[in-house]
This record gives sequence, structure tokens and C-alpha cells, in this order.
Amino acid sequence: MDQMEIMPNRMDYGFEKYQKEFEEKALSVLRSGWYVLGKEVASFEERFAAYTGAGHCVGLASGLDALWIAVRLLGIGPGDEVIVQGNTYIASVMGITINGAVPVFTEPDEYFQIDADKIEEKITDRTKAVMVVHLYGQVADMDKITDICRRHKLRLIEDCAQSHGALYKGRMTGTFGDAGCFSFYPSKNLGAFGDAGALVTNDPGLAEDARIFRNYGSEKRYYNKVVGANSRLDELQAGLLNVRLAHMEEITEERRQLAALYSGALRQKDILLPRERPDTRSVWHQYVIRTSRRRELMDFLRQKGVGTLIHYPIPPHLSEAYKYLGHRPGEFPVTEDYADTVLSLPLYTGMKREEQRHTIECINAFT
Ligand SMILES: *Cc1c(COP(=O)(O)O)cnc(C)c1O
Repeated sequence: MDQMEIMPNRMDYGFEKYQKEFEEKALSVLRSGWYVLGKEVASFEERFAAYTGAGHCVGLASGLDALWIAVRLLGIGPGDEVIVQGNTYIASVMGITINGAVPVFTEPDEYFQIDADKIEEKITDRTKAVMVVHLYGQVADMDKITDICRRHKLRLIEDCAQSHGALYKGRMTGTFGDAGCFSFYPSKNLGAFGDAGALVTNDPGLAEDARIFRNYGSEKRYYNKVVGANSRLDELQAGLLNVRLAHMEEITEERRQLAALYSGALRQKDILLPRERPDTRSVWHQYVIRTSRRRELMDFLRQKGVGTLIHYPIPPHLSEAYKYLGHRPGEFPVTEDYADTVLSLPLYTGMKREEQRHTIECINAFT
């Protein structure tokens, strides 16, 4: 029998599943004669706001832009501190530091999310905000976090780059604080075919500011109110996102089924399986197991044709980019332990039954 080759993630199946719709939309945008900030963007903003339940959505050029522009427009800058979990993708942290603000790292809980019980000890006179990252499509403990932010008058920013459609007590991530920041990078659950992002908010003033800021600070052509940026969303990406958004419940359901199949079938004794926080719906951007035998397991799986990835091997506080913050190994033991033990299993739209069965059999056969 041919060796099966399973990639840790793949995007071609997700394209093929709705290929006709994507192709028709792409052609119609190409033929429209209008390519940046137009009808497709306006329609996507309206539909994504409705999908999340937020009052407003502003389309932007990337997830990182959504983060740094949200931080900037909330008035957070040099000298201000933002509390963020240590085990995140480095973009969350860059959204803070691009503005000259200081990331104050805190440890994650057993669901890989910011540990709500460890936030208050990090609050100082300079703390302006908490940035919650719903990592791997799982959900942070929002009741506790919104309560802390309310009591200490802190801004709340949600990094939802991995959590499109994830729910906390029936309410969508991204709608609990001042701003929800989304990425539509192709590999995200709601992926475009290039870079794209958006910010959602219930604050009409913030939405208005973001709309102006993304287009060089101009509301009316060539009248510039503020020094902004170019972070416009284009019509092609917005149109393709409109196609995928219509199938989002199906896409999420499929990921949840794949995760449930893994959780029901994996029984290797040296691995810990991820759990879903009670009262939440995880959208399983990644299915992340933990094992102290990670190197061995990865090599074993690679020999059997199963690809896996580590999200993420170096926590931001130990990355070269953030050497200037002066952190030392050992400062964040939970974060560092996760960096040393996490492993993401293959999970993608269109994953075939045989592909998952083979992956499970290989893991269970690891001794
Ligand atoms: C992907 C990602 C981002 C950045 O999004 P881009 O669109 O690549 O700029 C930010 N935060 C997290 C947690 C992400 O996974």
C-alpha cells in the first residue's frame, strides 16, 4: 500500500469544497472595475458584524493591523502597559509594541488561555488594557476577565485571529470588550486567499475612527483628519470572504467533529488531550496535544507520513525580537512548559476519514 501523506494543514480542500462559488465571485470582482473598498467590503462588514453580533465591523488589511490599530485608537502608547498571555503568537505582542506600549506577560490556564486568576497581580498604575487571545480557537474565561477590566477601568482587546465563531455562554468572541481583532489569513478558520483582517466593536466612535485611520486618515478624499495608515481591505478578498462566511457554521461543525473524533479515539498514554472549557464552543483552529516525548512522537509520525506542527516553539518573551524586554528563561514556567510540550495534529476543512483514521492509528501505535 502507498504511504499516506498527511499535511498538518492544507487549504486546497477548503477551496475545492466551494470552488464554483469562489471562482464566480472572483470573476465578478475582476469584471466589476472596482478593486479596493467597495461593495464587497461594505457587504462583508455588514455580514461579519451580524455574524459576530457586534455593532460594527471595519475591514482591514491584516490581523496584525487590526491589533495595532485597535491599541492605537484606544489611546494606548509609549509607557502604557498591556497585560497579555505569554503563550501567544508573536503578532499579539507586536500589536502592543508597535505603539511603544509594554507587554506585561502572564501565564495561561489549563485550556491554554490567559489565566484570569493571575491578571490582577500584574496590574500597575500604568496598566491600560488586557489583551485576551482566544488561542487555538478555544475560549478564555470571559466572565472573570470582563469583571476585572470593569473594576480596574481597563480596556479589553480580544485577539480573535484563531477564534472565528467561538462562543462563551452563547456569545461570540470579539464582542466582550472594546475591540475584537480578526485575521483572515488563508490558514485561519475563516480564511481569505491573501492577507485580510477586521476589527469589530460595539463603539460607533471607534468604528468611525478605524474607518478613517485605515485610509490615510481621510474621510473625504484628500482631506486628511489624522495621520493614519494604509490598511484597506480589497474587493477580491472581501468577495471571497463573503462566499466563505456563508458556510461558516458548516466549517465550524466539521472542525468540531474532527476534534471530537480525535478526543474519542486517541489513547496513547504519554499524551494529554485538549479540553473544551465548560459553557464554551471551541472552533478548534488547532487541536493541540501535550507530550514530554514530543521530538520522538513528531519523528515517529513523520516516518509514517503524518505531519505535525508546534504552535509555538519559542514564547515571545524569549524570542530574539523581544530581548530588549530583558526576560529570562524560567520566568514563565507554564508558558515555557507549553512551548516545550505542545503539538498540533492535522485538522483542516475537507480532512478525509482515512487521513484522520491513519493519524489516530499512528499515534496510538507510538510506544
Ligand atoms: C494569525 C494571527 C495574528 C496575525 O494575523 P495576520 O493576519 O497574519 O496579521 C494575530 N494573532 C494571532 C493569535 C494569530 O494567530
